[in-house]
Amino acid sequence: MRTFVYKKHNLLATLSVLLIFVFLLMVDFYYSWQEYEDRLVRDAQNGAIYAEETVGQIISILEAIGRSPVLKSGDSAKISRFLNEVGYYQQVTSLELANSDGMRWTGKRTDIGILDVSDREFFQGAVETGRPYVTGAVRSKLFPKIEFVVSCPLYGEDGKLENVFYAPVWNDRFFRNFLNKIKLESGASLHVVDQDQQLLISSLKEVDRLETYKPKTFSTENNNIYKLITSPDARLTARKAIPGTSWAIIVDQDVSVVVRKVLGKVFYDSLIIILVLLPVILAFTIFIIQINRQRHELIRSNKKLQSLALTDGLTELLNHRAFQDTLSRYIEKAGPEAPLTLVMMDIDNFKIFNDQFGHQAGDVVLKQLSLLLKSYFKNAGVVARYGGEEFVAILPNTGHEEGLAIAQQLCAAIQTTPIVLDAETEVRIAVSIGTATYPKDAEDRENLIKFADRALYKAKEQESNKVQMYYSVLEELRVNIKGDQDLMKVIHTLNTIINAKDKYTYGHSERVMNYATRLAVHMGLCQEDIHNISIGAFLHDIGKIEIPGDILSKPGKLSDEEFEFVRKHPLIGAEIIKPIKSLEKARQFTLYHHERFDGTGYPFGLSGKDIPIYGRIAAVVDAFDAMTSNRPYQKVKTCREALEEINRSAGRQFDPDIVSQFIELFSKTREEEPDSQDCFSVMIH
Ligand code: GH3
Ligand code: MG
Ligand code: MG
Repeated sequence: MRTFVYKKHNLLATLSVLLIFVFLLMVDFYYSWQEYEDRLVRDAQNGAIYAEETVGQIISILEAIGRSPVLKSGDSAKISRFLNEVGYYQQVTSLELANSDGMRWTGKRTDIGILDVSDREFFQGAVETGRPYVTGAVRSKLFPKIEFVVSCPLYGEDGKLENVFYAPVWNDRFFRNFLNKIKLESGASLHVVDQDQQLLISSLKEVDRLETYKPKTFSTENNNIYKLITSPDARLTARKAIPGTSWAIIVDQDVSVVVRKVLGKVFYDSLIIILVLLPVILAFTIFIIQINRQRHELIRSNKKLQSLALTDGLTELLNHRAFQDTLSRYIEKAGPEAPLTLVMMDIDNFKIFNDQFGHQAGDVVLKQLSLLLKSYFKNAGVVARYGGEEFVAILPNTGHEEGLAIAQQLCAAIQTTPIVLDAETEVRIAVSIGTATYPKDAEDRENLIKFADRALYKAKEQESNKVQMYYSVLEELRVNIKGDQDLMKVIHTLNTIINAKDKYTYGHSERVMNYATRLAVHMGLCQEDIHNISIGAFLHDIGKIEIPGDILSKPGKLSDEEFEFVRKHPLIGAEIIKPIKSLEKARQFTLYHHERFDGTGYPFGLSGKDIPIYGRIAAVVDAFDAMTSNRPYQKVKTCREALEEINRSAGRQFDPDIVSQFIELFSKTREEEPDSQDCFSVMIH
């Protein structure tokens, strides 16, 4: 993974550098090509300017010669000598003079004699323009060469045309200088063409090659500079007209040569780019690697921090926070088809253990228990340290009953596993366990934890049964009340208040409800009564809300004043329920649950059958639960003891008929465990 990250980034860096490099080369190629084209154009321009100057020079020389008085003297011998003297001017083949009728009458060469040149271009051009005239190229009759003629009209004092003075110029002679002077920047070849696209001169030496220049090669569409790639030669061409003449300069180059030259330059440039870029690339790569290394370090330390933040330092189990997150995730995946059971455990009497063996030994216990839990739930779920000596296990795909069975096995396993403190000391510990199942018991995470905790609390309360699963009275009510959601909400709220108020009577309402309901069924009461008795029983102590907590949990005897206070709770409870119309009958259970059969009860002191039946049932089941559960002011009785006590009080405190029904119900329910202290479990199982 690590090397992959490095490689990926290096590859990316290399690729991007390569891309930049290729891009630079492409840009370089484009501009180099442009530059070469510009050079061709510049060569053509320079050639044209130089040609113009050179032709101009010839013209001005001829003009100067033309102004000589000798030429006007009419003395042909003198003129002939004069022309011979100046005629060696290197660019000029010969110098001739014709009269106004176009008859050549003298010149450098005297052997030619009189010649009619009146139809020649140079004569007509000079006469028509009245200015020096440069002809197109003509093929010399005398030599296999192309020549052109520069002519000058000569006028007399009266302004009449007297003579036309002309000089044929052999192109090679003319251009020899010209070509020597022009230094072509582009290294291309230079040509001069006339108006008919005849090649006058070329810097290319080979004649054969010259002949391949077809007239159309040099388009005359305009006389401006232009570039074209022609085929089949594929040449890059620049053309410029020579001012004052009908000629043009053409500079051209083989495209393949251009490509070679441009590529050569690009190659050279690329070397420079590489030399400059290489250190940059190296630095860049090192930089990327460095950044990556740091990033990786950061990720690793982040992961470490994260796992530290989620792990408990002592036990190395998930800590509380991680547990909450994990539970949320598991709940998302759970549902009726895949229930999830939460197992919550708390070490018994750990405070005492610490006091006795010391905190360090306590830590050893916590660590060893953690190891045990880890291996116990290895394939079944996730274990976390919930708090000090409390642990939780999340068991996915585990239902209510299955979860309880697992918890019971675990409880036994912990009790039988010795914990080695040192070479001499081995201890055993016990835990209490509560379980709750999603979604059966709770619809969300908070409630699942709350209910498992509640079950754990219940387990702590009981000496005999150290494992409790959450048992929801509300669930039972919900089934019976079907549809009346508002009522359910009210009952739920009241239930929460009762439980919060009186720690010692925890679960009392639930148990009383259970006993009362079963008793009502056993007595064959109608469905409506059973329903009302259920709810009434559940709410019978609601009036205790008004009684201060310290009176409720006072271990000793109550003062008269305090007792007076306590005696009010049936009335207060009935008052609280009063506004709820549907609880009108259930309210009787609350109102009369402290009336006694002999009329010594409160708040009304009713006796015998004057006490509504709900009240008479209430008196029995309430007293029975008070006797059999933990209370601050009395010792817990076994089921048998409690039933005997109730039986003794029949006719005095209780309705004897109901007492006998209750004893009958109990013996029917679970005969084999009359000595159990856990009457509630006996009853509901
Ligand atoms: P109960 O049976 O009701 O659970 O009694 P208990 O003593 O186990 O419960 P209580 O809540 O009164 O005390 C819990 C004790 O757990 C108190 C504390 O000293 C101990 N404890 C909590 N965390 C640690 C720990 O990290 N190391 C040690 N050695 N002891 C711890
Ligand atoms: Mg605890
Ligand atoms: Mg404990």
